[in-house]
Amino acid sequence: MDPQWYQIGYLISATFFIFGLKMLGHPRTAPRGNQMGAIGMLIAVVTVILEIDLIESPILIASGILIGAVIGSWLAIRVEMTGMPELVALFNGFGGAASALVALAEIYSAIESDTIPNGLELHVAWTAIGLSALVGWMTLTGSLVAFAKLKGGFNILGKWRRFPTWGPSWLNPVKAIAVGTALYMIYLSVMAPDDLEVIWALILLSCILGVILVLPIGGADMPVVVSLLNSLSGIAAAFTGFIISNPVLIIAGSLVGASGLILTFIMCKAMNRRLMDVLFKSFGGSEKESVTRTKVGSDPDEVAMILDGAQKVVIVPGYGMAVSQCQHQVKEFADLLSEKFGTEVKYAIHPVAGRMPGHMNVLLAEASVPYDQLIEMDEINPELPEADAAVIIGANDTCNPVARSGEGPLAGMPIIDADLARSVVIIKRSLSVGYAGVDNDLFYMDKTMMLFGDGKKMMTELNTAIKEY
Ligand code: NDP
Repeated sequence: MDPQWYQIGYLISATFFIFGLKMLGHPRTAPRGNQMGAIGMLIAVVTVILEIDLIESPILIASGILIGAVIGSWLAIRVEMTGMPELVALFNGFGGAASALVALAEIYSAIESDTIPNGLELHVAWTAIGLSALVGWMTLTGSLVAFAKLKGGFNILGKWRRFPTWGPSWLNPVKAIAVGTALYMIYLSVMAPDDLEVIWALILLSCILGVILVLPIGGADMPVVVSLLNSLSGIAAAFTGFIISNPVLIIAGSLVGASGLILTFIMCKAMNRRLMDVLFKSFGGSEKESVTRTKVGSDPDEVAMILDGAQKVVIVPGYGMAVSQCQHQVKEFADLLSEKFGTEVKYAIHPVAGRMPGHMNVLLAEASVPYDQLIEMDEINPELPEADAAVIIGANDTCNPVARSGEGPLAGMPIIDADLARSVVIIKRSLSVGYAGVDNDLFYMDKTMMLFGDGKKMMTELNTAIKEY
């Protein structure tokens, strides 16, 4: 086939990626955007299969596609909504490793055949290979650590062990020296292209770098790290696309790299943090504080009584809503309030509520909550002092007033000002801390009523109490 047809195939697939990405920008168009991305990927894979010499290794290629498709489908079908961030972290890591492995294969084939990949200049090819190795392997190990941190820990011999957050201050100069050494190794590999030992040393150092970069990051900074790793996996793919002269890999990698970086900065802004601070200032970690204070719980009838006559109620959803999957009961609660008491109900959406960007929007859209009721944090906060009640469902860090104090893992993170509402109702199972591991004074305020229990169970009971009120 005329080679130009392959380029046209890549161009079509890249167009699907770009339009798909654009459509991901709004919850309404996001599902179609996702489908467009998948179609683009299918076109890219078919074009690559047509372009390469299939006769040489048909079984190898078919097995790769089959194994990848089975594992990918199995993981995607099995994953709970709350497990998505871990899955995304793993996919980022595998993406980085795949790119780095392709770059490594190119090195071996170039040394064996004594040629330079795809007619590139030697120093260009080896710099791209080195950068792909550095970014790709660092993304793999960094993502594996992020996966473990998001999971919280592991069950080892029947005992739950929390994954540690560790980052003494002397680690920062070590990180800087490691980055400098890695860049020097890339230079060495350009000077001595046949020296595989330098490449293997670079791979080892990149793996260590991924671990020491992510290990100290605790508190509430993980969303930033996950989107940064996502961006790095794209950058590694773009370098590899350059090495093997594959335009679609360069375009797709650059898209992932750029959009991941934009998301990283959006998350940093939402958390009121600088990227450098996230990467190099460890905020104590996420060891859970032990809770010693007590608070008497309320019951649904009492809460229904408080809500009777409320003119304005702001619902603050968080990770616990995702765990208990009570978004449908939350929607029913909002409908009941407006039908029975004539209450104006709005939802306060914190940018990092839950465990992935847009987590609350996705869940509430699933329960058919109108988009215009989902109000971003900056917009809803001025309304909270006028609200008769803030009803917090499984949120904790994102409305913890300690963030305003400038101390600890949540220092400086903007929060939903739920504590400013006239009364506060909190639904969660206990007084325990959230993701950042920080106790929350809001639970103990006089105006706060705690409804202790699983989100779905408590929302169902609250709805029954309102219906019977
Ligand atoms: P938090 O993680 O702060 O708190 C969630 C609360 O939900 C817990 O305190 C828990 O309390 C409660 N909960 C858990 N299960 C249930 C259940 N079945 N029913 C009722 N309540 C339940 O949540 P937020 O959403 O407020 O904050 C998100 C945190 O996660 C932030 O620190 C953010 O930085 C971090 N993060 C966010 C990511 C993102 O991209 N959005 C990614 C990674 C981390 P109890 O056990 O007492 O029930």
